[in-house]
Amino acid sequence: MLHDIETEARYTRELIGREAFAPRVMQAMAEVPREKFVPPNMQGAAFENGPLPIGHGQTISQPYIVALMTDLLEPAADHRILEIGTGCGYQTAILSRLCARVYTVEVVRELGAAAADRLQLLGYRNIEFLVGNGYAGWPDHAPYDGIIVTAAASHVPPALVEQLEHGGRLVIPVGEPYGYQNLMLLEKDEQGEVSSRTILGVAFVPLVEAGHDKT
Ligand code: SAH
Repeated sequence: MLHDIETEARYTRELIGREAFAPRVMQAMAEVPREKFVPPNMQGAAFENGPLPIGHGQTISQPYIVALMTDLLEPAADHRILEIGTGCGYQTAILSRLCARVYTVEVVRELGAAAADRLQLLGYRNIEFLVGNGYAGWPDHAPYDGIIVTAAASHVPPALVEQLEHGGRLVIPVGEPYGYQNLMLLEKDEQGEVSSRTILGVAFVPLVEAGHDKT
């Protein structure tokens, strides 16, 4: 799986602006047991470089995309990171290895509860869970050094930009539900000015937006 990620990173270097991901990101990818996050009948495919279904119409993301989004976020050991879309908790586990604290929000109650149980069982302790609509972020713990959204939004939710610390980074897929989507990187500089760039085309499940809460 690590080899596939490295190969794909080299293959997409023009788009992602780097030859390889940070060694500590690859280390986290090596250490988190992906097979513990996929359904029992999918164990055989746990280390293939592709997404897999996790129930409730949701997926565990492709390992290369998890590595790419983590690398773009540039998590540091003292960072507090907000994740929208806990899903099975795989991306959450990767982030928990790389930063001080992860705040993660999931709109589907069963998935959020299952991820919290799973991560607790696996011994990840620096994570706080919330079941709710992450379109509004999680204001209680803002501002965050980094924010990652693992579902595709039609636009960048304003609350997430507000909840980003100066000098922070926001990684989010933006586009049509089940249609054309781009991974975007937003950076808020020390003066609070926000700039953004498009990284590459992606395929994510849709983000539940304002007023469409499933819980
Ligand atoms: N991060 C996961 C991928 C999750 S798939 C991984 O590591 O593989 C996207 C998740 O986002 C789904 O579980 C979906 O239910 C959730 N989601 C969609 N809209 C949301 C919203 N508005 N707030 C919080 N979670 C949301």
